[in-house]
Amino acid sequence: MLKKMSKKGSIIVISAPSGAGKSSICDALVRSDSGMVNSVSCTTREPRNGEKNGTDYFFTAEKVFKSMIKGKKFAEWAKVHGNYYGTPKSFLEKTVKAGKNILLDIDVQGGINIKKQYPDACMIFIMTPDFKTLKERLIARNKDSRQTIKIRLENAKKELEFLGKYEYLVINDKLPEAVDAVRTIIKSQKYKIKKTINN
Ligand code: ADP
Ligand code: 5GP
Repeated sequence: MLKKMSKKGSIIVISAPSGAGKSSICDALVRSDSGMVNSVSCTTREPRNGEKNGTDYFFTAEKVFKSMIKGKKFAEWAKVHGNYYGTPKSFLEKTVKAGKNILLDIDVQGGINIKKQYPDACMIFIMTPDFKTLKERLIARNKDSRQTIKIRLENAKKELEFLGKYEYLVINDKLPEAVDAVRTIIKSQKYKIKKTINN
């Protein structure tokens, strides 16, 4: 049993206001470590310039998304900034059983729901050093309209209220340092005493 516990991968929830650097951090971790895998969510949002179906998201029609909810295909799902997003359940469970760490770049509602179902999930919150930097990065990313950026900045304040539900806070000032910090947290999960071994 002890061997089985240490062989399982971990579920790593990474939440942050939009623009704080979740994708940059997750991509850097996956590129540098074959033991880490990004969870690819389904979303009803329109693809941004350059986004690829099956890599960034599974871009899904709302009707199909709703039938997947009914069919219990998601480990969690939520409506975020007006669109539906969901984490495919079977891929998540297969990945963890195969001994890999799976990174879930999901919003705070999704993070809390994952923690309820998978109590061993590691909860990491990412934030920029301040709101001014967050706004600057959203503008510099040049992928969202002014109106979208306004909504995302308003939501950022609400998202920060959920910080207390998370176990770790990483400030993404210099990207390589933030990536190292998250990597260290993930490495330590291997030694955590798991509360459940079957999920
Ligand atoms: P999120 O996935 O949380 O929405 P992104 O990873 O897309 O955020 O980052 C938002 C923007 O900020 C991107 O243009 C990214 O290249 C940039 N960025 C991320 N981390 C840093 C950093 N530490 N310093 C400067 N720019 C950053
Ligand atoms: P974006 O549209 O910028 O890619 O993502 C918007 C928000 O949706 C981000 O906070 C992101 O973490 C969140 N998100 C992405 N996938 C999922 C998911 O599967 N479930 C939940 N709950 N949130 C998600």
